Amino acid sequence: VAKADGGRRVRAFEPEMEERQHHRRWIERELRIAIANGQIELHYQPLFELATNTVTGFEALARWRHPERGMISPGEFVPVAEATGLIDALGVYVLRTACAAAMGWPGSLRVAVNISPTQFRDGNIHRIVEEVLQETRLPSQRLELEITESVILSQDQATYQMLTELRRLGVRFSMDDFGTGYSSLSSLNSFRFDKIKLDQSFVRNLMERDEAAAIVHVVAELGRSLKITTTAEGVETEEQLARLRASGFSEVQGYLLSRPIPAAEVAGFILSQSNLSVAA
Ligand code: C2E
Ligand code: MG
Ligand code: MG
Ligand code: MG
Repeated sequence: VAKADGGRRVRAFEPEMEERQHHRRWIERELRIAIANGQIELHYQPLFELATNTVTGFEALARWRHPERGMISPGEFVPVAEATGLIDALGVYVLRTACAAAMGWPGSLRVAVNISPTQFRDGNIHRIVEEVLQETRLPSQRLELEITESVILSQDQATYQMLTELRRLGVRFSMDDFGTGYSSLSSLNSFRFDKIKLDQSFVRNLMERDEAAAIVHVVAELGRSLKITTTAEGVETEEQLARLRASGFSEVQGYLLSRPIPAAEVAGFILSQSNLSVAA
């Protein structure tokens, strides 16, 4: 009986899979056009330093405003871009746009750019970053590359070379989504990061689960020991913020402080900062 059931279920899933395939092909086709026509825009989400109550920089987050379908989230199009190789074109566009934008901000502010693991595949990412820095004249210390542990874990010689070259340029490295992979600690041990970004899943459970609170404490302590910045993502409530502050996190990012904002609004946001403080 189970077998017959299973058989029927597989058949029932077929149209769904086909639909998903179709959707992916649609995204691929449309994304190609969108990248070429500048339909991808960047929004910027501020990072707040807790010790000083100031903004240290902004993370660039890609937004796709499709003429008919409206907003398509990166959660939907980045995986397709990665699977189809479009991520390289998208990545260059994001990097160039973000670095150019940062040139219009006060010199103390950094810009963080997400780099997908697949962008390390064609062996060129260090040259692309170097070119964009030259072209935009952004000082390399103002650029943070957010990568996930999968880049470090690939452990191939070419990737290691690229990371070394990037490090030589003087850019900073943040480990994104810390704690969600299989061996975040091992990655920290094999590559020197400047910043750990604790994944928002831990922050979300911070008040409800003792485990999450314990992890937050340990990550803050880890950052202190390694002398690297610790950033908590997805901070939405005052209670979470107070906990993170008490644990000694260096930075926070989240809707409580600010949503990602359109590029045109960043200047105004920076100006408003003098009277904006993070509640203790
Ligand atoms: P991420 O790099 O971990 O970025 C953080 C995500 O959390 C962003 O989602 C941001 O909008 C969201 N977020 C920030 N604060 C809060 C909060 O308080 N609550 C909640 N629930 N969410 C918050 P977004 O913009 O949808 O991006 C999702 C992911 O897509 C990013 O995760 C990143 O991995 C990827 N992504 C976005 N832009 C790019 C890009 O230009 N290139 C690449 N390769 N990946 C990108
Ligand atoms: Mg990120
Ligand atoms: Mg993240
Ligand atoms: Mg994430």
